[in-house]
Amino acid sequence: MKLVRKEKFIYEIPIDKELGMRVPGLVFASEDMIESIETEGVLQQVANAATLPGIQKASIAMPDIHYGYGLPIGGVVATDVDEGVITPGGVGFDINCGVRLITFDISIDDLNVDLESLAKKLYRNIPCGVGEGGKIKVKKQELKQVLKKGARWAVENGFGNERDLEATESYGFLASADPEAVSNKAYERGYDQLGTLGSGNHFVEIGCVETILNKDVAEKWGLFEKQLTLLIHTGSRGLGHQVCTDFLGIFEKSLLKYGISVPDKQLACAPVKSPEGNKYLAALSCAANFAWANRQILMHLSIETIMEVLNISRKLLNPRLVYDVAHNIVKFERYEIDGKERLLAVHRKGATRALPPNHEELPDMYKDTGQPVIIPGDMGRYSYLLVGGKKAEELSFNSACHGAGRKLSRHKAIKMAQDRNIAEELKLKGIFVISRGKRTLKEEMPEAYKDVSDVVDVVDYLDIAKKVLKLRPLCVIKG
Ligand code: 5GP
Ligand code: MN
Ligand code: MN
Repeated sequence: MKLVRKEKFIYEIPIDKELGMRVPGLVFASEDMIESIETEGVLQQVANAATLPGIQKASIAMPDIHYGYGLPIGGVVATDVDEGVITPGGVGFDINCGVRLITFDISIDDLNVDLESLAKKLYRNIPCGVGEGGKIKVKKQELKQVLKKGARWAVENGFGNERDLEATESYGFLASADPEAVSNKAYERGYDQLGTLGSGNHFVEIGCVETILNKDVAEKWGLFEKQLTLLIHTGSRGLGHQVCTDFLGIFEKSLLKYGISVPDKQLACAPVKSPEGNKYLAALSCAANFAWANRQILMHLSIETIMEVLNISRKLLNPRLVYDVAHNIVKFERYEIDGKERLLAVHRKGATRALPPNHEELPDMYKDTGQPVIIPGDMGRYSYLLVGGKKAEELSFNSACHGAGRKLSRHKAIKMAQDRNIAEELKLKGIFVISRGKRTLKEEMPEAYKDVSDVVDVVDYLDIAKKVLKLRPLCVIKG
């Protein structure tokens, strides 16, 4: 694959007419990263996505990019809503997988409990594992309300408050949701999965602020060094997975129906403005809303557990949601293209929205700073909090990376870990991890991921998103 270095950290895949590319590919990465990216075949996926009808400007790859279904994870594709397509491969199976960061008014120096018992209690109270159900069980009529209202449903049912919605991307719901667009099979998978973590890569993590990197913004956001924090990473569980699966079948047929040719069947798509496109959007929005309700409930369960273990009142603990971001989603957003404002379907697959200061979609509390951008790293090193930067609109349709990104496949990670005891190794570093899945800790060991510092350096340098602070893990619950 031909790759041209444009400037520091920006590489271009020139338009290949034979492949049918309509726009170039754009890869944001360091030289070292490019080497490993090239060997994985992901550049081909970036180029393939550039053939999608209606794609604008470029098929974009973030520095945490790695191989995915159709589009790589770490990919951004924006298509014109009037002339372009929408593709489930550009969103991913875990619709609205995302992360939220919560802070507490407590320093780890004042923590008078041992972290191991906190980890154990969290593990007991947070339902986790593949297909695992939780304590909340809803019937169809109620689940329809969840699918329509998203995080608001959770707040109305006693899980959190209005302010949490302010601090959630899109206020925790997409109005385009239509519960009638969701299959019975998807409903079946959703009845008992509200307030559950799921498997493998998903986690609930207690940590602390290790280093403040932007004093001004950290202060405005009320963040301080050694502050106790909570990170939650999960998505729409079986329900969202089923929605994606249902539509992959439908969209494969649309290729023929609408005479669209794509180099890879996994990029099956349909015009945004087609019955298939509309229905996918309606169902995807339901799954996204389910995920927001799910993270809202998990936050509540985690906070209650922390209050209990620390034996502290809510008032003293003062839990505050910094922000909740979606990193597998498609959003309708306006951008100026060649001097004309156009409505685009921005597919972010393993990419986080990063709104710059003064963006109209920002809630008042983040208007002057820009949006908090949460970038988890791994369970043994660190994670980052960034803020939307000035070049995000121009370079990446207001999108940043979403994590460190995998360096090793799950299979390779297990092979490499051999008989290492990851939990014991992390314990020696003062990190207590508990996982549900037997193989999870090997699959998820820190070495399986890139160093998130390297990834974040790229988006920070390009002013897509700027570093605010670095977090350190203390207790991690994995699926
Ligand atoms: P994904 O959504 O692609 O599965 O994962 C998002 C990112 O989360 C990964 O790229 C990885 O960098 C990060 N990550 C995975 N596991 C953990 C964990 O246990 N703790 C933290 N802080 N980050 C993690
Ligand atoms: Mn996920
Ligand atoms: Mn995710």
